Amino acid sequence: MTTVEPLNREPNNRFLNAMNSDCIFCKIVAGQLPSCKVLENADTLAFMDIGPIVPGHTLVIPKIHVETLPAAPAAILQKLIIVVQNIARAQLSAFKADGVNVIQANGQAAGQVVPHLHFHVIPRFATDGHHWNWKPHPYAKSEEMSALAEKIKAALTDYRV
Ligand code: 5GP
Ligand code: ZN
Repeated sequence: MTTVEPLNREPNNRFLNAMNSDCIFCKIVAGQLPSCKVLENADTLAFMDIGPIVPGHTLVIPKIHVETLPAAPAAILQKLIIVVQNIARAQLSAFKADGVNVIQANGQAAGQVVPHLHFHVIPRFATDGHHWNWKPHPYAKSEEMSALAEKIKAALTDYRV
């Protein structure tokens, strides 16, 4: 059973509910929608993505409903990332994959379609033919980069690790 109470002390607890009845991933957790599970423990679930980018594409989610990584309690993330690592290792050995991509989107602007935190764990093969549409846009001046770095540093008020 998921322990919710201590996590609600985290700053983003307005995003936290044990289950959101409109959420397809919560319905998968609750067994109200079918899924092809590969790992389940008290806090996390890993299951096959129905729209794989590469065969074997797996999703790793917290059982608790939390929309994004920035909103997630650290205690949940710590458990989630270990499951992500285990799935990546399992894909490498089970499929003899040449690599693994771990992808994670937060918010519609970032391409998040399902608003329940999830990590995509995608086995990669030299021959899989998939290419990310990754286009660098270099800074015109190094000062522009430094100014943005300063803004991030100033906003890191809650950095506790
Ligand atoms: P996002 O774009 O939000 O990062 O990724 C959502 C992912 O969830 C997509 O890759 C999509 O294929 C997958 N997905 C959406 N609905 C379902 C579902 O009902 N079952 C499973 N297993 N995967 C789903
Ligand atoms: Zn949910």
